[in-house]
Amino acid sequence: MSDAFILYIDRLKGGTVQKLGMILSPEFFDIHETDLLFQDPVEVSGEAYLAEEELVIHLNASTIARMPCSVCNQMLPLPLAIKNFYHAEPLSSFKSGLFDLREPLREALLIELPKTAECPGGCKERAAIAPFLKKHPEAPGAPEPYFPFSDLKYP
Ligand SMILES: [Zn+2]
Repeated sequence: MSDAFILYIDRLKGGTVQKLGMILSPEFFDIHETDLLFQDPVEVSGEAYLAEEELVIHLNASTIARMPCSVCNQMLPLPLAIKNFYHAEPLSSFKSGLFDLREPLREALLIELPKTAECPGGCKERAAIAPFLKKHPEAPGAPEPYFPFSDLKYP
Protein backbone atom coordinates (compact mmCIF):
# COMPACT_ATOMS: atom_id res chain seq x y z
CA MET A 1 0.00 0.00 0.00
CA SER A 2 1.23 3.44 -0.95
CA ASP A 3 1.95 5.91 1.80
CA ALA A 4 1.68 9.00 -0.39
CA PHE A 5 -0.73 10.43 2.17
CA ILE A 6 2.11 10.73 4.69
CA LEU A 7 3.89 14.08 4.53
CA TYR A 8 7.44 14.44 5.78
CA ILE A 9 7.77 17.84 7.38
CA ASP A 10 11.55 17.91 6.95
CA ARG A 11 11.20 17.67 3.18
CA LEU A 12 9.15 20.85 3.14
CA LYS A 13 11.69 22.99 4.95
CA GLY A 14 13.30 25.74 2.91
CA GLY A 15 10.12 26.64 1.06
CA THR A 16 9.58 23.43 -0.90
CA VAL A 17 6.07 23.04 -2.25
CA GLN A 18 5.22 19.37 -2.50
CA LYS A 19 2.75 18.49 -5.24
CA LEU A 20 0.22 15.94 -4.15
CA GLY A 21 -1.47 13.47 -6.42
CA MET A 22 -2.80 10.15 -5.21
CA ILE A 23 -5.63 7.72 -5.34
CA LEU A 24 -6.69 6.44 -1.95
CA SER A 25 -8.60 3.31 -1.19
CA PRO A 26 -12.04 4.16 0.26
CA GLU A 27 -11.22 2.02 3.31
CA PHE A 28 -9.66 5.01 5.02
CA PHE A 29 -13.15 6.40 5.65
CA ASP A 30 -13.50 3.56 8.14
CA ILE A 31 -17.26 3.79 7.93
CA HIS A 32 -19.32 0.69 8.42
CA GLU A 33 -22.91 1.71 7.93
CA THR A 34 -25.61 0.10 5.87
CA ASP A 35 -26.88 3.48 4.67
CA LEU A 36 -23.53 5.06 3.84
CA LEU A 37 -21.06 3.23 1.65
CA PHE A 38 -17.73 4.21 0.15
CA GLN A 39 -16.65 1.79 -2.54
CA ASP A 40 -14.87 4.04 -5.00
CA PRO A 41 -11.31 5.30 -4.75
CA VAL A 42 -10.72 8.86 -3.62
CA GLU A 43 -8.76 10.95 -6.09
CA VAL A 44 -6.68 13.60 -4.42
CA SER A 45 -4.58 16.38 -5.88
CA GLY A 46 -3.10 19.49 -4.38
CA GLU A 47 -0.01 20.70 -2.61
CA ALA A 48 1.61 20.95 0.78
CA TYR A 49 4.01 23.58 2.09
CA LEU A 50 5.17 25.28 5.22
CA ALA A 51 3.99 28.78 6.03
CA GLU A 52 5.30 30.50 9.14
CA GLU A 53 4.85 27.94 11.88
CA GLU A 54 2.26 25.87 10.10
CA LEU A 55 1.95 23.05 7.65
CA VAL A 56 -0.58 24.01 4.99
CA ILE A 57 -2.30 21.48 2.79
CA HIS A 58 -4.39 22.58 -0.12
CA LEU A 59 -6.46 19.83 -1.68
CA ASN A 60 -8.99 18.92 -4.29
CA ALA A 61 -10.56 15.53 -3.88
CA SER A 62 -13.40 13.55 -5.31
CA THR A 63 -15.08 10.23 -4.80
CA ILE A 64 -18.52 8.68 -4.85
CA ALA A 65 -20.56 8.00 -1.73
CA ARG A 66 -23.56 5.71 -1.76
CA MET A 67 -26.67 6.48 0.26
CA PRO A 68 -30.19 5.12 0.02
CA CYS A 69 -33.00 7.18 -1.50
CA SER A 70 -35.01 8.41 1.47
CA VAL A 71 -38.24 7.40 -0.29
CA CYS A 72 -37.62 4.08 -2.07
CA ASN A 73 -34.43 3.01 -0.28
CA GLN A 74 -32.53 2.23 -3.46
CA MET A 75 -28.80 2.89 -3.08
CA LEU A 76 -27.75 5.97 -5.03
CA PRO A 77 -24.29 7.05 -6.11
CA LEU A 78 -23.60 10.57 -4.89
CA PRO A 79 -20.58 12.32 -6.34
CA LEU A 80 -18.67 13.95 -3.53
CA ALA A 81 -16.00 16.55 -4.11
CA ILE A 82 -14.04 19.21 -2.31
CA LYS A 83 -12.31 21.99 -4.19
CA ASN A 84 -9.66 24.30 -2.80
CA PHE A 85 -9.81 22.81 0.65
CA TYR A 86 -7.22 24.32 2.97
CA HIS A 87 -6.03 22.83 6.20
CA ALA A 88 -3.36 24.28 8.44
CA GLU A 89 -1.69 22.43 11.26
CA PRO A 90 0.70 24.11 13.70
CA LEU A 91 4.18 22.62 13.43
CA SER A 92 4.37 22.42 17.20
CA SER A 93 1.82 19.60 17.05
CA PHE A 94 4.14 17.28 15.10
CA LYS A 95 6.17 15.14 17.36
CA SER A 96 7.02 12.58 14.72
CA GLY A 97 7.77 14.93 11.84
CA LEU A 98 5.10 13.10 9.85
CA PHE A 99 1.62 14.19 8.96
CA ASP A 100 -1.13 11.90 7.74
CA LEU A 101 -3.38 13.98 5.53
CA ARG A 102 -6.15 11.40 5.47
CA GLU A 103 -7.79 12.61 8.67
CA PRO A 104 -8.49 16.22 7.57
CA LEU A 105 -9.39 14.90 4.12
CA ARG A 106 -11.86 12.45 5.57
CA GLU A 107 -13.55 15.15 7.64
CA ALA A 108 -13.69 17.58 4.74
CA LEU A 109 -15.40 14.99 2.55
CA LEU A 110 -17.83 13.80 5.19
CA ILE A 111 -18.97 17.37 5.87
CA GLU A 112 -20.02 17.59 2.23
CA LEU A 113 -22.41 14.66 2.51
CA PRO A 114 -26.06 15.55 2.14
CA LYS A 115 -28.29 14.69 5.10
CA THR A 116 -30.61 12.70 2.88
CA ALA A 117 -30.61 11.52 -0.69
CA GLU A 118 -33.38 11.07 -3.19
CA CYS A 119 -33.53 9.56 -6.68
CA PRO A 120 -32.43 12.12 -9.29
CA GLY A 121 -35.32 14.25 -10.46
CA GLY A 122 -37.46 13.24 -7.49
CA CYS A 123 -38.25 9.70 -6.49
CA LYS A 124 -40.94 8.07 -8.60
CA GLU A 125 -42.16 6.21 -5.54
CA ARG A 126 -43.10 9.47 -3.89
CA ALA A 127 -46.47 9.62 -5.67
CA ALA A 128 -47.21 6.05 -4.66
CA ILE A 129 -46.65 6.66 -0.96
CA ALA A 130 -48.12 10.18 -0.75
CA PRO A 131 -51.57 9.01 0.41
CA PHE A 132 -49.96 7.21 3.34
CA LEU A 133 -47.89 10.12 4.59
CA LYS A 134 -49.36 11.76 7.64
CA LYS A 135 -49.89 15.44 7.11
CA HIS A 136 -48.55 17.57 9.89
CA PRO A 137 -51.32 19.96 10.98
CA GLU A 138 -48.93 22.91 11.16
CA ALA A 139 -47.26 22.25 7.83
CA PRO A 140 -47.28 25.30 5.58
CA GLY A 141 -50.16 25.12 3.18
CA ALA A 142 -52.18 22.76 5.36
CA PRO A 143 -55.87 23.67 5.54
CA GLU A 144 -57.11 25.52 8.59
CA PRO A 145 -58.71 23.23 11.15
CA TYR A 146 -62.46 23.29 10.67
CA PHE A 147 -64.87 22.84 13.55
CA PRO A 148 -68.30 22.52 11.99
CA PHE A 149 -70.20 22.87 15.25
CA SER A 150 -68.26 25.71 16.85
CA ASP A 151 -71.02 28.20 16.02
CA LEU A 152 -73.66 26.30 17.91
CA LYS A 153 -74.82 28.05 21.04
CA TYR A 154 -75.58 25.92 24.01
CA PRO A 155 -78.33 26.98 26.35
ZN1 LIG B 1 -36.17 6.70 -4.81
